[in-house]
Amino acid sequence: MEKHILIVDDSPTMRLSVSFCLRNAGYRVTEASDGKEALQKLQFMENKGQSPALIITDINMPEMDGITLISKVKETELKFLPILVLTTEAEESMIEKGRAAGISGWLLKPFQPEHLLWAVKKVVWSK
Ligand SMILES: [Mg+2]
Repeated sequence: MEKHILIVDDSPTMRLSVSFCLRNAGYRVTEASDGKEALQKLQFMENKGQSPALIITDINMPEMDGITLISKVKETELKFLPILVLTTEAEESMIEKGRAAGISGWLLKPFQPEHLLWAVKKVVWSK
């Protein structure tokens, strides 16, 4: 079965290009525009007895930022779910916050499709 990935980013253009890249590689994709919507989508999946194989999230978003989303997910039954960060944020202190919250990787925008797919493959198939 195709692996399901939740993409969280407030930029529609970014969601579009990440989705395009992942769908082309055979992944199933659900999109959310911020952390709050991401939690709603996760709840919706759970209600259907589903969970994604991976979350890819931006950091700077309205409503709920990526770091808050990550810590909230880590408080749920999805705490072992891999999370990749895809952001323009390269501040070491911010990356440290992500590590402390339990992320699997930190990728910088703009992304190279091959690089993103490599990182996704590495975390999705190593479970
Ligand atoms: Mg953003």
